[in-house]
Amino acid sequence: MERQFENVRAMVAALTPSYPVYCLRPQVLRRAATRFLELFPGRVLFAVKCNPHPAVLRILYEAGIRHFDTASLPEIAQVRESYPDAGAYFMHPVKSRAAIQAATRIYGVDTFTVDHPDELNKVLDQAGGGEGVTIMVRIKTPPVEGVLYHLAGKFGAEPLDAAGMLKEAHARGCQVGLAFHVGSQCLVPEAYGKALAICGDVIEQAGTPLNYLDVGGGFPAEYVGTNIPPLEAYMSEIEKGAKALKLRRDCVLMCEPGRALVAEAMSSVVQVQLRKDERLYINDGVYGSFSEMVTAGIRLPAEMVRLNGGAATREMKSFTLMGPTCDSVDVLPGTFELPADIHEGDWIEIDRLGAYSFANTTRFNGFYPDTLVTCLDEPLGRRQAA
Ligand SMILES: *Cc1c(COP(=O)(O)O)cnc(C)c1O
Repeated sequence: MERQFENVRAMVAALTPSYPVYCLRPQVLRRAATRFLELFPGRVLFAVKCNPHPAVLRILYEAGIRHFDTASLPEIAQVRESYPDAGAYFMHPVKSRAAIQAATRIYGVDTFTVDHPDELNKVLDQAGGGEGVTIMVRIKTPPVEGVLYHLAGKFGAEPLDAAGMLKEAHARGCQVGLAFHVGSQCLVPEAYGKALAICGDVIEQAGTPLNYLDVGGGFPAEYVGTNIPPLEAYMSEIEKGAKALKLRRDCVLMCEPGRALVAEAMSSVVQVQLRKDERLYINDGVYGSFSEMVTAGIRLPAEMVRLNGGAATREMKSFTLMGPTCDSVDVLPGTFELPADIHEGDWIEIDRLGAYSFANTTRFNGFYPDTLVTCLDEPLGRRQAA
């Protein structure tokens, strides 16, 4: 079990860490899971790739999440070995034959996503047909303004091809479903309605009733400078869109949130190793927890933590944060407002780092954030004034 602290300050006082420390907030994670489970009219799968830390999976499991979107054999092994009564779904549209075999025979996985007829044949070859196997056909959805990543750029079948695969899988006795992903950090609830309308076209062309309909992930998290629609707006769009499809009554609706479940539940506490004027050299960077500041342009809230040497000045200044590796691109984009007298040895808590941070770290230059504690305080910007 991870060490637990009342708040970030208590953690810093106890560890005085010269290495970056993730602060996971179990209560925040539990609240996000409970909200999704209450609001979504179907099965909620956590997208493991977003944050595969064992503590994250454990807290989500304890909060009632029993289904996991997995993309690789290691992710499947992690879920099935830790939680034998939980379901792992093999949602990567491109899989090795060995991975399909092991997933089926060793881990009892029965649900596979495909987006190409050759992949469908591969899965049927390795897993066999029949109603013990579920084939999810991933469709392409149109690009949406206001998403960080167009996940449809890489995967997804055209409607006509998708209809063909549904028919084929159905003919082989499999259970069938449709899936899509509108793109991560999707700020437009209507994108789900549009994608569901395309599902309607595919269902009509195929004439095959669906056992499952999976609306994917993409639900947004609140960062600095974002203004996200409430989760309820997404849910009502999905309910409206699904209702219009005249699905069979026992068709199971699924979703695969990653970011929206975990983004707010984890921060990172870094230490200032050197100050050069308005540049602060810290011990984590874009090859570590902060790659999404570059790849997705997200901006994160930050606050200084100082133990000794008196209170910080009230005067604030804009600082650039420099990562620890020798690469000159290892600089966090934008600036951070921090006390003007911040100096070597002070700590900075940088928040909203639950999604695609720990998951994306490299070992470049030997810098690798791997310490995680739990903290019982609220995220930055949500704390009561002291
Ligand atoms: C990454 C991914 C998710 C999670 O996406 P978020 O934007 O983090 O919600 C869900 N499903 C699939 C298939 C994915 O690839």
